[in-house]
Amino acid sequence: MQRTRRIFDRLAALYDQMDAAYDKAAAPLGFTCADCAQNCCISHFQHHTYVEWAYFLEGLEQADPALAKRVVDKARENVEATQAALARGERPRVMCPVNVDGLCSIYRHRLMICRLHGVAHVLHRPDGRFVHYPGCPRFSELAADEPCVPGTDVRGPVIDRTPLYRELAAIEQAFLGSKARTLPKVDMTLAEMIVQGKPF
Ligand code: SF4
Repeated sequence: MQRTRRIFDRLAALYDQMDAAYDKAAAPLGFTCADCAQNCCISHFQHHTYVEWAYFLEGLEQADPALAKRVVDKARENVEATQAALARGERPRVMCPVNVDGLCSIYRHRLMICRLHGVAHVLHRPDGRFVHYPGCPRFSELAADEPCVPGTDVRGPVIDRTPLYRELAAIEQAFLGSKARTLPKVDMTLAEMIVQGKPF
Protein backbone atom coordinates (compact mmCIF):
# COMPACT_ATOMS: atom_id res chain seq x y z
CA MET A 1 0.00 0.00 0.00
CA GLN A 2 2.84 2.37 0.87
CA ARG A 3 4.39 1.50 -2.45
CA THR A 4 1.16 2.42 -4.26
CA ARG A 5 1.00 5.68 -2.30
CA ARG A 6 4.53 6.58 -3.34
CA ILE A 7 3.68 5.86 -6.96
CA PHE A 8 0.50 7.92 -6.77
CA ASP A 9 2.48 10.80 -5.22
CA ARG A 10 4.97 10.55 -8.10
CA LEU A 11 2.08 10.71 -10.56
CA ALA A 12 0.61 13.73 -8.76
CA ALA A 13 4.00 15.46 -9.02
CA LEU A 14 4.09 14.71 -12.75
CA TYR A 15 0.58 16.12 -13.11
CA ASP A 16 1.83 19.32 -11.42
CA GLN A 17 4.60 19.51 -14.02
CA MET A 18 2.04 19.06 -16.79
CA ASP A 19 -0.15 21.82 -15.37
CA ALA A 20 2.88 24.13 -15.15
CA ALA A 21 3.89 23.32 -18.75
CA TYR A 22 0.35 24.01 -19.88
CA ASP A 23 0.20 27.36 -18.06
CA LYS A 24 3.60 28.38 -19.42
CA ALA A 25 2.41 27.78 -23.00
CA ALA A 26 -1.14 29.10 -22.60
CA ALA A 27 -0.54 32.25 -20.56
CA PRO A 28 1.50 34.29 -23.10
CA LEU A 29 -1.32 33.92 -25.64
CA GLY A 30 -4.10 34.46 -23.12
CA PHE A 31 -5.39 31.01 -24.07
CA THR A 32 -8.15 29.59 -21.84
CA CYS A 33 -10.99 27.11 -22.29
CA ALA A 34 -13.56 29.55 -20.92
CA ASP A 35 -16.78 29.66 -22.95
CA CYS A 36 -15.35 27.40 -25.65
CA ALA A 37 -18.13 26.06 -27.89
CA GLN A 38 -16.07 22.93 -28.68
CA ASN A 39 -15.92 21.59 -25.15
CA CYS A 40 -13.15 18.94 -25.13
CA CYS A 41 -15.00 17.05 -22.40
CA ILE A 42 -17.48 15.97 -25.11
CA SER A 43 -14.74 14.47 -27.29
CA HIS A 44 -14.33 10.73 -27.75
CA PHE A 45 -10.83 9.81 -26.58
CA GLN A 46 -9.06 6.95 -24.87
CA HIS A 47 -6.55 6.71 -22.05
CA HIS A 48 -3.70 4.23 -21.97
CA THR A 49 -2.26 3.71 -18.50
CA TYR A 50 -3.32 1.57 -15.55
CA VAL A 51 -1.77 3.97 -13.07
CA GLU A 52 -3.87 6.92 -14.21
CA TRP A 53 -6.96 4.72 -14.18
CA ALA A 54 -6.29 3.59 -10.60
CA TYR A 55 -5.39 7.10 -9.43
CA PHE A 56 -8.54 8.57 -10.94
CA LEU A 57 -10.65 5.95 -9.15
CA GLU A 58 -8.95 6.90 -5.89
CA GLY A 59 -10.16 10.45 -6.49
CA LEU A 60 -13.66 9.18 -7.21
CA GLU A 61 -13.62 7.15 -3.98
CA GLN A 62 -12.69 10.29 -2.03
CA ALA A 63 -15.49 12.33 -3.59
CA ASP A 64 -18.79 13.09 -1.90
CA PRO A 65 -20.86 9.86 -2.18
CA ALA A 66 -23.72 11.62 -3.98
CA LEU A 67 -21.29 13.01 -6.56
CA ALA A 68 -19.58 9.63 -6.95
CA LYS A 69 -22.93 7.92 -7.56
CA ARG A 70 -23.86 10.56 -10.13
CA VAL A 71 -20.57 10.06 -11.94
CA VAL A 72 -20.97 6.27 -12.03
CA ASP A 73 -24.59 6.55 -13.27
CA LYS A 74 -23.53 9.03 -15.95
CA ALA A 75 -20.62 6.78 -16.91
CA ARG A 76 -23.04 3.90 -17.61
CA GLU A 77 -25.20 6.20 -19.74
CA ASN A 78 -22.07 7.46 -21.49
CA VAL A 79 -20.87 3.96 -22.38
CA GLU A 80 -24.31 3.04 -23.80
CA ALA A 81 -24.61 6.25 -25.82
CA THR A 82 -21.04 5.91 -27.08
CA GLN A 83 -21.57 2.32 -28.19
CA ALA A 84 -24.84 3.30 -29.93
CA ALA A 85 -23.08 6.11 -31.81
CA LEU A 86 -20.25 3.80 -32.86
CA ALA A 87 -22.77 1.19 -34.03
CA ARG A 88 -24.35 3.88 -36.24
CA GLY A 89 -20.93 4.61 -37.69
CA GLU A 90 -20.77 8.02 -36.01
CA ARG A 91 -18.00 9.55 -33.95
CA PRO A 92 -19.47 9.78 -30.43
CA ARG A 93 -20.03 13.22 -28.93
CA VAL A 94 -21.12 12.34 -25.42
CA MET A 95 -20.32 14.52 -22.41
CA CYS A 96 -17.77 13.05 -19.99
CA PRO A 97 -19.59 11.67 -16.94
CA VAL A 98 -17.25 13.64 -14.69
CA ASN A 99 -18.28 17.01 -16.11
CA VAL A 100 -20.86 18.66 -13.87
CA ASP A 101 -22.34 21.95 -15.03
CA GLY A 102 -19.38 22.58 -17.30
CA LEU A 103 -16.71 21.86 -14.71
CA CYS A 104 -14.53 18.82 -14.06
CA SER A 105 -15.82 17.47 -10.75
CA ILE A 106 -12.78 15.24 -10.02
CA TYR A 107 -10.35 17.92 -11.11
CA ARG A 108 -7.27 17.03 -9.05
CA HIS A 109 -7.35 13.44 -10.35
CA ARG A 110 -8.15 14.17 -14.01
CA LEU A 111 -5.98 12.29 -16.47
CA MET A 112 -3.01 13.41 -18.56
CA ILE A 113 -4.83 14.21 -21.78
CA CYS A 114 -7.34 16.34 -19.88
CA ARG A 115 -4.37 18.40 -18.65
CA LEU A 116 -2.51 18.83 -21.93
CA HIS A 117 -5.08 18.98 -24.70
CA GLY A 118 -5.56 22.23 -26.57
CA VAL A 119 -2.03 23.61 -26.43
CA ALA A 120 0.40 22.96 -29.31
CA HIS A 121 2.90 20.21 -28.69
CA VAL A 122 5.83 18.28 -30.07
CA LEU A 123 6.79 14.73 -29.17
CA HIS A 124 9.81 12.55 -29.86
CA ARG A 125 8.34 9.05 -29.75
CA PRO A 126 10.30 6.00 -28.56
CA ASP A 127 10.05 4.55 -32.10
CA GLY A 128 12.02 7.53 -33.41
CA ARG A 129 9.09 9.39 -34.95
CA PHE A 130 8.76 13.10 -34.33
CA VAL A 131 5.12 14.17 -34.11
CA HIS A 132 3.63 17.60 -33.64
CA TYR A 133 0.19 19.12 -33.25
CA PRO A 134 -0.73 22.78 -33.69
CA GLY A 135 -3.21 22.84 -30.81
CA CYS A 136 -6.98 23.17 -30.89
CA PRO A 137 -8.63 25.69 -33.25
CA ARG A 138 -8.77 28.39 -30.58
CA PHE A 139 -5.08 27.95 -29.69
CA SER A 140 -4.06 27.92 -33.38
CA GLU A 141 -5.94 31.14 -34.01
CA LEU A 142 -4.28 32.87 -31.07
CA ALA A 143 -0.86 31.63 -32.22
CA ALA A 144 -1.37 32.55 -35.90
CA ASP A 145 1.19 35.39 -35.82
CA GLU A 146 3.80 33.47 -33.84
CA PRO A 147 6.86 31.95 -35.57
CA CYS A 148 6.75 28.27 -36.50
CA VAL A 149 8.69 25.65 -34.61
CA PRO A 150 11.40 24.70 -37.17
CA GLY A 151 10.35 21.84 -39.44
CA THR A 152 6.70 21.95 -38.37
CA ASP A 153 3.48 23.87 -38.91
CA VAL A 154 3.26 24.40 -35.14
CA ARG A 155 3.22 28.00 -33.99
CA GLY A 156 3.46 29.66 -30.63
CA PRO A 157 4.59 28.43 -27.24
CA VAL A 158 4.55 24.63 -27.36
CA ILE A 159 4.71 21.84 -24.85
CA ASP A 160 7.42 19.29 -25.47
CA ARG A 161 5.53 16.23 -24.27
CA THR A 162 8.59 13.96 -24.55
CA PRO A 163 9.87 14.16 -20.93
CA LEU A 164 6.30 14.09 -19.58
CA TYR A 165 5.44 10.91 -21.51
CA ARG A 166 8.75 9.31 -20.50
CA GLU A 167 8.05 9.92 -16.82
CA LEU A 168 4.49 8.64 -17.17
CA ALA A 169 5.81 5.47 -18.83
CA ALA A 170 8.29 5.02 -15.96
CA ILE A 171 5.57 5.49 -13.37
CA GLU A 172 3.35 2.99 -15.19
CA GLN A 173 6.21 0.49 -15.20
CA ALA A 174 6.78 0.99 -11.46
CA PHE A 175 3.04 0.60 -10.80
CA LEU A 176 2.64 -2.60 -12.80
CA GLY A 177 5.91 -4.34 -11.93
CA SER A 178 5.79 -7.93 -13.19
CA LYS A 179 2.10 -7.54 -14.13
CA ALA A 180 3.24 -5.52 -17.13
CA ARG A 181 4.13 -8.77 -18.90
CA THR A 182 0.64 -10.25 -18.74
CA LEU A 183 -1.88 -7.40 -18.65
CA PRO A 184 -3.49 -6.25 -21.90
CA LYS A 185 -2.82 -2.75 -23.20
CA VAL A 186 -5.23 -0.12 -21.91
CA ASP A 187 -7.29 1.64 -24.57
CA MET A 188 -10.39 2.86 -22.77
CA THR A 189 -12.49 5.93 -22.33
CA LEU A 190 -12.76 7.33 -18.85
CA ALA A 191 -16.43 6.29 -18.74
CA GLU A 192 -15.41 2.68 -19.47
CA MET A 193 -12.81 2.83 -16.70
CA ILE A 194 -15.39 4.10 -14.21
CA VAL A 195 -17.93 1.43 -15.16
CA GLN A 196 -15.33 -1.33 -14.95
CA GLY A 197 -14.02 -0.15 -11.56
CA LYS A 198 -10.52 -0.77 -10.24
CA PRO A 199 -8.25 -2.23 -12.91
CA PHE A 200 -7.03 -5.02 -10.60
S1 SF4 B 1 -12.13 14.07 -16.61
FE1 SF4 B 1 -12.64 16.23 -16.31
S2 SF4 B 1 -11.35 17.39 -17.76
FE2 SF4 B 1 -11.32 15.22 -18.39
S3 SF4 B 1 -12.93 15.04 -19.96
FE3 SF4 B 1 -13.85 14.51 -17.96
S4 SF4 B 1 -14.72 16.43 -17.15
FE4 SF4 B 1 -13.30 16.96 -18.82
